[in-house]
Parts: sequence; C-alpha cells; structure tokens
Amino acid sequence: MAELRGVGKRYGDVEALRGVSLSIEQGELVGIVGPSGSGKSTMLNMLGTLDRPSAGLVRIAGHDVLALSDRRLSALRAHVIGFVFQQFHLAAGVPALDNVADGLLYAGPPLRERRRRAYEALDRVGLGHRVGHRPHELSGGERQRVAIARAVIGDPRLLLADEPTGNLDSRSGAGVMALLRELNAAGTTVVVITHDRDIAAALPRQVEMLDGRVMDGRVMDGVRA
Ligand code: ADP
Repeated sequence: MAELRGVGKRYGDVEALRGVSLSIEQGELVGIVGPSGSGKSTMLNMLGTLDRPSAGLVRIAGHDVLALSDRRLSALRAHVIGFVFQQFHLAAGVPALDNVADGLLYAGPPLRERRRRAYEALDRVGLGHRVGHRPHELSGGERQRVAIARAVIGDPRLLLADEPTGNLDSRSGAGVMALLRELNAAGTTVVVITHDRDIAAALPRQVEMLDGRVMDGRVMDGVRA
C-alpha cells in the first residue's frame, strides 16, 4: 500500500526525515509514534502525498509520487487516501450530512447521490440519528466520527489519522479507536499518527520515530520480532 525507501525530507537546514525506509501492506493497522519534533507530521505528508520527498522513493498504491504531476497526485489522493485530523476540520454551521457529502466533491457525483452515500457513511460510524446536527451541536467524539465518515465516504484504501484522539476525553478517544479498528477489519489500511504510547501500544504494529529516523518494530505477542 505504501513504500518509503531511503526517504529524506529537508526544510531549509532542518532534516525532518533522514533515510526512512518503511513498508505498509494492504490491510495493516499501524501506529506511527514518537515525541514532538520526531518527524511524524512530515511522515504523514509523505504517506498522504501532501508533499514530495527531498531524497529517496515514495510509492503509494503503486504510484511513484515523484513521477506524478500535481494534478495526478491530487487525483491519487482523492481516490485512494482518506484523512482524519486532530481538529476534525468540519465546516461550521453545516449539518453532518453535508459535511460528509462534501468528502465526495472531487469525485463529483450529483448532490442527491452524495447525500445518500453520506447517510450510509454516517450510519456506518453510528451517527445515523445525527445527520441534521451541526458541529456545535455534537460532542467531540461525535464530531470526530463525522470527520471519519467524511474520510471514508469515497471508500479510500488508505486512511491516515493524525492524532485522532488528541482533542477527546479518554472515553470518546477509545470509541474513535474502536471505530478505526472496525474500518480496518473491513479492509481499509489504517495509519494512526500519535505521540501517545498507550494508543500506539494497543495497535498490532508500531513504527517508532526519533529525530527523523524510523526504528521499525513488528510486535507479536508482546515480543519484538
Ligand atoms: P512531529 O510531527 O513528530 O512533531 P514534524 O514532522 O512536524 O514532527 O517535524 C520534524 C522536524 O522538522 C522538526 O524539527 C520541525 O521543526 C521541522 N519542520 C517540520 N515542518 C517544517 C517546515 N514546514 N519548515 C521548517 N521546519 C519544519
């Protein structure tokens, strides 16, 4: 699903990533964990094709990111990748149904079809009874569920979640993590970026970052293989 080989990313004289190699298979549920400044957001930008590497190879769903034009890259992003952010990024004053339906704007089906699929996506995240609620009428956990519905309405193969529980109390956070697990069980490859070791530890695979480098470990039955 995603392959990084010898990836470096520079911002001026800061090396945000150095020689990062990482492979994420279809169907995986992976946590990328590390302290602030370790390069997690930069990694998200690479996996999400939001930015290009300064060195090395990034391949997402078989496409070499350096070889694609901006337009092809946007299309790849719209069709293959869903994003979930700590701050939800929902449109204020807009009902949940239309916030989710907007997740299909790029793909362009008519409004009626977008709304039908938005309803399905909201139902899938357990919010079929909240479709008319505006963000300020929803709890934090519900807002993140709406954001997840928007991210998955186009059936992305790869879901990238950047600190998805960062703004939630522990109970709502646990609910959001359970939902991400369900989506993964249904076939979506899920990558969760977090500084929270407990959240990462509960995932089947952790990728640890420090100073722009990856210390990859596959953990099975609590033993690092
Ligand atoms: P994390 O998400 O783990 O906190 P980041 O990927 O945001 O880490 O940052 C890694 C390093 O790269 C940090 O030293 C940060 O200051 C630097 N960095 C990130 N983005 C930029 C940018 N756009 N311009 C300059 N430096 C950046």
